[in-house]
Amino acid sequence: MAAMSGKIAQNVIVAQNRQLGSQYRRESHRPVPFMSNLLPIHGGKLAWTCLFSMKLPSLPIYQSGFVSRRTTINCNAASSATAVPNLEKVDFLKLQNGSDIRGVAIAGVEGEPVSLTKPVTEAIGAAFAAWLLEKKKTDASQPLRISIGHDSRISAPVLLDAVSQGVAGAGLDVIQFGLASTPAMFNSTLTEDETVLCPADGAIMITASHLPYNRNGFKFFTNGGGLGKPDIKDILERAADIYSKFTDEGLIDSKRQASASVKRVDYMTLYASDLVKAVRKAAGNIEKPLEGFHIVVDAGNGAGGFFAAKVLEPLGANTSGSQFLEPDGLFPNHIPNPEDKAAMEAITQAVLDNNADLGIIFDTDVDRSAAVDATGREFNRNRLIALTSAIVLEEHPGTTIVTDSVTSDELTTFIEKKLGGKHHRFKRGYKNVIDEAIRLNSIGEESHLAIETSGHGALKENNWLDDGAYLMVLVVQTLCSNLLFHFSSLLELSLTFLFHHLQVKLLNKLASARTSGIGGGSKVLTDLVEGLREPAVAVELRLKIDQNHPDLKGGSFREYGEAVLKHLENLVTLDPKLQKAPVNYEGVRVSGHGGWFLLRLSLHDPVLPLNIEAPSNEDAVKLGLTVASAVKEFHALDTSALDKFVQPS
Ligand SMILES: [Zn+2]
Repeated sequence: MAAMSGKIAQNVIVAQNRQLGSQYRRESHRPVPFMSNLLPIHGGKLAWTCLFSMKLPSLPIYQSGFVSRRTTINCNAASSATAVPNLEKVDFLKLQNGSDIRGVAIAGVEGEPVSLTKPVTEAIGAAFAAWLLEKKKTDASQPLRISIGHDSRISAPVLLDAVSQGVAGAGLDVIQFGLASTPAMFNSTLTEDETVLCPADGAIMITASHLPYNRNGFKFFTNGGGLGKPDIKDILERAADIYSKFTDEGLIDSKRQASASVKRVDYMTLYASDLVKAVRKAAGNIEKPLEGFHIVVDAGNGAGGFFAAKVLEPLGANTSGSQFLEPDGLFPNHIPNPEDKAAMEAITQAVLDNNADLGIIFDTDVDRSAAVDATGREFNRNRLIALTSAIVLEEHPGTTIVTDSVTSDELTTFIEKKLGGKHHRFKRGYKNVIDEAIRLNSIGEESHLAIETSGHGALKENNWLDDGAYLMVLVVQTLCSNLLFHFSSLLELSLTFLFHHLQVKLLNKLASARTSGIGGGSKVLTDLVEGLREPAVAVELRLKIDQNHPDLKGGSFREYGEAVLKHLENLVTLDPKLQKAPVNYEGVRVSGHGGWFLLRLSLHDPVLPLNIEAPSNEDAVKLGLTVASAVKEFHALDTSALDKFVQPS
């Protein structure tokens, strides 16, 4: 789905700030949408009042009058609304986490002081606005607008207020979406629909993905995609500068500006309805293509609950047994993370308990997902990549699939030998993977899918938007299209055969499974990954570098890590049983003993993660011993996890 354009005026509520309704966009020539006072997303469940009614630990609020007009949060800071608080010195650059900003937003966890205070957040909002103004080189006759959404974290309302003030104080318009998904925020920069005040010139998602409840952060988008590392650094440098110049008057002024220029719209209803349209279209304009399918959703109390009621149900699916759809920023049930063991166990159990055809699980901000088939088998990591590759390669034969570096050798065999595609194994980091796919296309190598073992996936047809929900739409479409074929005539089948030869094969399997009464609806998906060999042992061990160790001799952990990798590489070339990967973009990757290992340097931390996969524990230990002998001279490395792994049990 590219830019959204559907008009669903009856569902869209544009709410205006209560205080200053009469000042509504006096200077703007854009059409004025109809208004209301509240933003009842998801049948009213996700309105602001809901977020505020949660138990709130002490929130980092520095001006009590500043917080919210509808709540009774007890503020733990100065009561004067005019005095500039003693702003603490803040190292803004420490808030950078790759292409995101991350920090602590809730006090109370030992050793984790609040770093995303209100003034820090306001400065970040103002800095993004300044960055965007420069980028867009606007003539200022029409203020730029920035859409802002958030996940279910309990610090969201406070950060939303602060970041809105930063943006508004810089003279830009703020469009608040309320609870939203990260992909929806990006999409709002592409949507052409004035009833929801889109396209936005820039978008901010307030989220810390799967991190604990006390953290929060920001992701930024323009219609060119997510901002990269250099942009984030630029924004944080600007924020530091803005922060150092905060004055009483400036803060009061930005608050006033925010009151005047903040609008609220129900964007997620439009977003969900466009996902529905995309599936209906792919299914041949059938109103309820998922009729007869039972699909359970686990949103982990994050922002993904809309997928059950607003996407699957309108398509005819039975979603009974879905769980943790209500937003709850304390994440009381499990970590909303498809890579988390307890989370995967929860969705698996839900599928089995409900005899469902399929289970879908999202992370907090819905940019990652995983699925479970009717038998309770997980489509995650290599299996999810295999499944998505199979679907994409049906449509784009021979295309290159770009993945991160920890994908298995068996996945390469599956993609290249069974599916006839090309596997391009690149580096960790979803932005790296997506950028590499874009780069390949730009140099003439066709690539339609970029996907990480974490579940982050992006498709060319979806503008390389990193979108967990869209990936699941693709999976659901496959269910639909195969069901459709089931009802097609023989003639249509033979025609389709020419174009969708793999799907017809699948149909035959599905049809025979149905006639013989075996296999749930998702068997068609399971069959897609048939032939993918999976290792008996798959581990990730983390070797930490002690940065204060004298062995570093004042050098950086990065230099030290590189030295470890170099030494390992030299050792490997001496062992005839081992083979270095011929093409490799990250760390040292070696095949041998029927399996493989990858030792690499973490993107941000002083850690060397080691992945080992092998057909047996014995083989895995042999691979582990190679690494153990290479690292034993490096005394600043904490090798305890590896030592334990290779110890005879
Ligand atoms: Zn996420």
